[in-house]
Amino acid sequence: MKPLQELTRPNIWALKPYSSARDEYSGKSASVFLDANENPYNIPNNRYPDPLQRELKGLISPVKKVAPEQIFLGNGSDEAIDLAFRAFCRPGIDNVVAIHPTYGMYQVCADINDVEYRKVLLDEKFQFKAADLLNASDNNTKLIFLCSPNNPTGNNLDSKEIITLLNEFQGIVIVDEAYADFSDQPSFTGILDEYPNLIILQTFSKAWGCAAIRLGMAFASPEIIGIFTKIKYPYNINRLTQQEAISMMQRHYEVQRWVNSVLEERTRLMKAFAQLPCCKRIFPTDANFFLTRVTHAKAIYDYLVGQGIIVRNRSNVTLCEDCLRITIGTRPENDKLLEALRNYSTSDTK
Ligand SMILES: *Cc1c(COP(=O)(O)O)cnc(C)c1O
Repeated sequence: MKPLQELTRPNIWALKPYSSARDEYSGKSASVFLDANENPYNIPNNRYPDPLQRELKGLISPVKKVAPEQIFLGNGSDEAIDLAFRAFCRPGIDNVVAIHPTYGMYQVCADINDVEYRKVLLDEKFQFKAADLLNASDNNTKLIFLCSPNNPTGNNLDSKEIITLLNEFQGIVIVDEAYADFSDQPSFTGILDEYPNLIILQTFSKAWGCAAIRLGMAFASPEIIGIFTKIKYPYNINRLTQQEAISMMQRHYEVQRWVNSVLEERTRLMKAFAQLPCCKRIFPTDANFFLTRVTHAKAIYDYLVGQGIIVRNRSNVTLCEDCLRITIGTRPENDKLLEALRNYSTSDTK
């Protein structure tokens, strides 16, 4: 890895961040706060929230086995993705490399930040070779984006290739683990201390059942977390979100129960799906969704919409021709989907 200063945009490296009232006094002993022009009424929403989310990070730290200084919290993982571009990529000069197909936000953030986005096609098993990503990179490649389990394909990426990339790439490797809770593969958080060029993204939106509160996590070296913290909005995580996440952390055993139910349903739904006449192929998955190739993706998608059931049509995505992406729901929801498709299949073949 190049020195972090060399990877960081010079203006960001030199930035003196805004210093909020709560940055300048963050002690616990004061009882009269007349420093932030807040309203003294309407407790507790009258007060600005903790800009560094210390209580919440203190609860996340033992669960994820990463130090509080290695945690950044954002308004969804999307905030961390955008900050990575803003911290490291000079608009119009630098570029990033990503596997393809993958999560669409990496390219959107690249386009917003005027950063060239280089795609490297996955193979027919939706896997990649570190060498291909390295070949696509040059001296101005600051970030490589990986997503494991990958969206929309569902599979884990080969961890040996990820390690090769971490060892050989001179920039920063971002591994998006939004679906890691549904996978048997251990999280890359276990090797965070060994790789100062690794950023891991996780989220409260999937396994944690909290998409509405908008809370994403990035795990990285204290130096990278320091840069993100310096350039984020001062109060990027509001009090309501911090409180809800704190209460989720206190009952995180429930999350494991949800994950177990989703995994049981995943097995059942995929088995039943394989029996449907409209199903040509099911791709292996390590996430809370699976990709399936069907006879006519657009027709089946439209038919399901007519039945009040929405799946994701991914047939316009490279390597995903005639594919639908199916999220695992509750047992009754999954049964509705199966029943609708059984009816479709009979009317289709008549
Ligand atoms: C759903 C998803 C996320 C989550 O994004 P949030 O902004 O945290 O809701 C991140 N990455 C991938 C690949 C996803 O599919």
